[in-house]
Amino acid sequence: MSRFFSEKYATLDPYVPGEQPRGLEKIVKLNTNENPYPPLPEVCAAAAEAAGKLNLYSETDSRALREALSKRLGVSMDELIMTNGSDEILNFAFMAFCDEHTPAVFADVTYGFYPVFAKIDCVPYEEIPVKDDLSIDIRDYFQRAGTIFIANPNAPTSLALKRSEIEEILKQNPYNVVVVDEAYVDFGSESCIPLIRKYDNLLVTQTFSKSRSMAGARLGYGVGCPELIRDLNAVRNSTNPYNVNSLTSAAGVACLEHDEYNRENCRIIMETRTRFERELREMGFEMPTSQTNFFFARHPEIPGGELYLKLKDKGVLVRHFDQERIRDYNRISIGTPEQMETLTAAIKQILEERA
Ligand code: PMP
Repeated sequence: MSRFFSEKYATLDPYVPGEQPRGLEKIVKLNTNENPYPPLPEVCAAAAEAAGKLNLYSETDSRALREALSKRLGVSMDELIMTNGSDEILNFAFMAFCDEHTPAVFADVTYGFYPVFAKIDCVPYEEIPVKDDLSIDIRDYFQRAGTIFIANPNAPTSLALKRSEIEEILKQNPYNVVVVDEAYVDFGSESCIPLIRKYDNLLVTQTFSKSRSMAGARLGYGVGCPELIRDLNAVRNSTNPYNVNSLTSAAGVACLEHDEYNRENCRIIMETRTRFERELREMGFEMPTSQTNFFFARHPEIPGGELYLKLKDKGVLVRHFDQERIRDYNRISIGTPEQMETLTAAIKQILEERA
């Protein structure tokens, strides 16, 4: 730290993203929940065409994207805000709806960026323990004096609440905003977008990173009532009005034009999930039944950190969190069937070598 770094960041503990190593062709990368299937050539062509106009700024209000997405989601354009990944809309929500009197409230085992946003935005936060089986008890979220952030499905636990359960939380918190982070919703759980007209305290966030194969393009969005979206736009226009670049914007529009490709990939990933959940359980792993594109699994015979390192030695990257309560687990993204076969073969070898 330089002697110039602001004291307000003295306790900042930056988010540590999953490793993005070079030489990817030799690595089976199952550590950041990316989609294993690349974007369609039409999406790449749209971005390439937009590159010819890079001398111009991008649209400040992502109009083309909101137009395309509003049709897809069945919401109106003023109920939508586009951002640089969903990380950005989440940060905007911390900035817009939390302050020293309105803490952020979230689970103790959830997306690791929430406490980081709280710290960089100088807002207090309260962590609510998940149950021993890693699930969320919705009653813990009733009548909280703060802005609630719920990843649904939750990461890294891979478990989802039903829409009706989130609705109960919304009813019990009429005076606070409830942010539902649906980064993984397209892998088989229920979205809360149909509730935005009923609850003016609901903000839903989604991303193109997981189900739409565009993690590298950085595209996310928020859906909520027009008043909430206006607040978020005030924050956006006060930080980075050109937050979605024109290549990403063009790629995103093309991606939505071929959304059936994305849905088919999600279906394949869910099929792969069913097959390999069975295999991993047969090998002795314990895990919640995933409603996402990853497993959160532990093995009674091998500590999580050791398995992570041994897999890395064999060229398979998974994600280990050296954190109380979840140290025994690894988060394993669901790749192609071939990648998952390499994973299970490597695990078999590791378990045999240990025996
Ligand atoms: N929410 C959750 C729960 C996540 O796991 C992630 C991905 N790391 C994000 C949001 C942010 O994803 P992105 O910024 O790529 O949209």
